[in-house]
Amino acid sequence: MLITGGGRGIGAATARLAAEHGYGVCVNYVSNREPAERVVKDIEDAGGKALAVQANVADANDVERLFHICDLELGTLGVLVNNAGILEKQARFEDISAERIDRVFAVNVRGAFLCAREAVRRLSTKHGGAGGAIVNVSSIASRLGSPNEYIDYAASKGAIDTMTIGLAAEVAGEGIRVNAVRPGIIETGIHASGGEPSRVGRIGPSMPLGRGGTADEVAEAILWLASDKSSYSTGIFIDVGGGR
Ligand code: NAP
Repeated sequence: MLITGGGRGIGAATARLAAEHGYGVCVNYVSNREPAERVVKDIEDAGGKALAVQANVADANDVERLFHICDLELGTLGVLVNNAGILEKQARFEDISAERIDRVFAVNVRGAFLCAREAVRRLSTKHGGAGGAIVNVSSIASRLGSPNEYIDYAASKGAIDTMTIGLAAEVAGEGIRVNAVRPGIIETGIHASGGEPSRVGRIGPSMPLGRGGTADEVAEAILWLASDKSSYSTGIFIDVGGGR
């Protein structure tokens, strides 16, 4: 299983759970090497197999190198978890710069597309692969639009939802299932990038389930979509959003 952005937050929880399920795990990170290496060490200490690979998913050359290293070190790819994602400071729509839109879409959209493309090239029975699964990490923001916070981010997740639907239909006959998880408000470091590290504490209590979620709760849904237990589901979305 290759997990983009697997060193921290939802990606790290997914890497640890995947290893418990017996997957060899490629833990991709872009700039924070230490937490990625810690995830790998914990997996290895528990008897599992993992490796950390630095790559910027927004860069096509980096993505090709990432998948190549994963092929060499872990063997045949079975699952891609398209998890790497960013957001920027909470802002009104009229204050969002062109450069910011490009930065957010480069990682959240271009990055996810490039990684899915590399996965299809390996998994598709049309290309001699044995099939597999792609799990995209979208967001309930794609439904809610993130007004007054980051409409650019929400729209990038809308693009991921559309890719999930289209790619699922395109490769359904080639042994590949493509699904998405849409987390709600989850306790991770991403909210600090939005300028509000305690955002989960502010919004969590107003969710129907009365709290924010954990990365582990999202990882459970990702692992189900990755596994054969979801063998008759493709092009679907699991909302892990506390009822919203
Ligand atoms: P996080 O804790 O900030 O972790 C983000 C991860 O993505 C980090 O490992 C980071 O690598 C990696 N990353 C960022 N840019 C990258 C790039 N260009 N190339 C490769 N990796 C990159 O965030 P998170 O909350 O776990 O978010 C994970 C996913 O869930 C994202 O797609 C996010 O949009 C989505 N999501 C999160 C929430 C939430 O409330 N937390 C809600 C809905 C959806 P480094 O460690 O090297 O920085």
